Amino acid sequence: MAQHRPNPEPPLSDKLLRSWLRCRRKAWLDRHGDPGDRHWNPHRALQLADREARLQTLVSQPLEDATGLQALQAGAPEVRLLLLRRGALRGRPTLLLRSSEPSRLGAFSYQPALLQPGRHGTREHRLTLSYWALLLEPLLGSSPQQGLLINPRGQRERVRLGGNLPRQRDQALTRLLQDLKRREPPPLTQDRRKCALCSWRARCDAVAEQQGELSQVSGIGAKRQEMLQDLGIADRAALSATPSAWLMQQLERQGEQRPELALELIAQARVQESGMAEALDDAPTDPLPELQSAPGVLLYDIESDPDARDDFLHGFIPLQRCSSGGFQPPETARYRPLLALQQHGEARLWQRLQRLLAAHPGWPVLHYGETEVIALRRLAQRQGDAAPQGLIDLHRRVRQHWRLPVSSYGLKAVASWRGFRWSQPAAEGARCVLWWRQWQGQRQRHLLEQIFRYNRDDCLATWAVAQWLSNTAAEGSDNASPAIDS
Ligand code: SF4
Repeated sequence: MAQHRPNPEPPLSDKLLRSWLRCRRKAWLDRHGDPGDRHWNPHRALQLADREARLQTLVSQPLEDATGLQALQAGAPEVRLLLLRRGALRGRPTLLLRSSEPSRLGAFSYQPALLQPGRHGTREHRLTLSYWALLLEPLLGSSPQQGLLINPRGQRERVRLGGNLPRQRDQALTRLLQDLKRREPPPLTQDRRKCALCSWRARCDAVAEQQGELSQVSGIGAKRQEMLQDLGIADRAALSATPSAWLMQQLERQGEQRPELALELIAQARVQESGMAEALDDAPTDPLPELQSAPGVLLYDIESDPDARDDFLHGFIPLQRCSSGGFQPPETARYRPLLALQQHGEARLWQRLQRLLAAHPGWPVLHYGETEVIALRRLAQRQGDAAPQGLIDLHRRVRQHWRLPVSSYGLKAVASWRGFRWSQPAAEGARCVLWWRQWQGQRQRHLLEQIFRYNRDDCLATWAVAQWLSNTAAEGSDNASPAIDS
């Protein structure tokens, strides 16, 4: 009869440690979460593609010669993504760089190197290097004393792997193990900005909404959440019921420059709790008066690759004024994408933009957020020209006139609240960047079509919000100004 063996604990890995260092809950979900709740995240795909591209430039030999244990034993100058094991620990250092100290391998040794995504190294990066050093120890005979952080510009920062770092690493591993043994996941991270990069985001957003977390209130980040919790305000419902004078006093005591912020936070929490939008105007005013007599309107949205500082697409939908007084239905209008190919130069893009704007004289240009106006202003400056007039930032108008039951005033959240649906449901800015980078490499037509479709939808979403804004004002006004719906 086969002897029964207890199921051994699954191994710990550098991936799990890094997850835990970012968010304790994430490590728990990575191990125990329902895989059906986990969604592919384009940010992760972008990071992996970036890592591959950077590895190509950092490895001096053919990539296949820089792979595997044999390469390490033979003293290859670089070894990439080698799987290391030590007891129940696993890890794949991104890069091992040969160094000149003797080791168990011969007259050379290796140092672990991590390709950091941003300009600055973090605690997560240093502890990961230390973890890789721990895995290397049996192979080298001693733990490497130094590791390297390499930033996107290729600059190298030496990290001493001695001192307090091994103790901090071991403490982190012990606490990670304790967290993994919990029956319930740890709480959501305070800094919800991290969630944008996480594959568990949809699940955690739902939990946060259900629990009425403070982090769901627009305007509350990690610091404010902590400060409010220290004051005994546990969640959104509690914030919405907090006396404003008392909270203003508390904020003042804490050194807040704008204690009247208390009024805004309480009012925002109240609106989100009730689910009812709140007009900020005492008397109804038209938030978009420029549209009243305009012969048409241009809907405008830019797609950008922020890391490459590349505004690669300027998309427009021109809507003509109809004889009925309204604007033509956006579905019938022709979408006008202007691709900004770097090899064509900015002067050409500028000319095309000017031609398009000149073909629609007196038409306001409606966009959502600051990106478009900043991009056009800078582009005009570089071309020694004046910035185009007539741009209307719809985001600003929404904020001036309304308090909405949304956790963010971004286009996605506001248009979705109005019932607008993107035709590619999983699409988002990061995914669009991924398509763009893939298109630059492969030139496949369908990638460009997906980008155009996404950009066109952003223009349509902008129009959906504008229609709501204008029509709500018109409905609430005695001398109703012409509604802008088609
Ligand atoms: S979505 Fe946010 S809270 Fe949830 S696991 Fe990821 S980082 Fe943590």
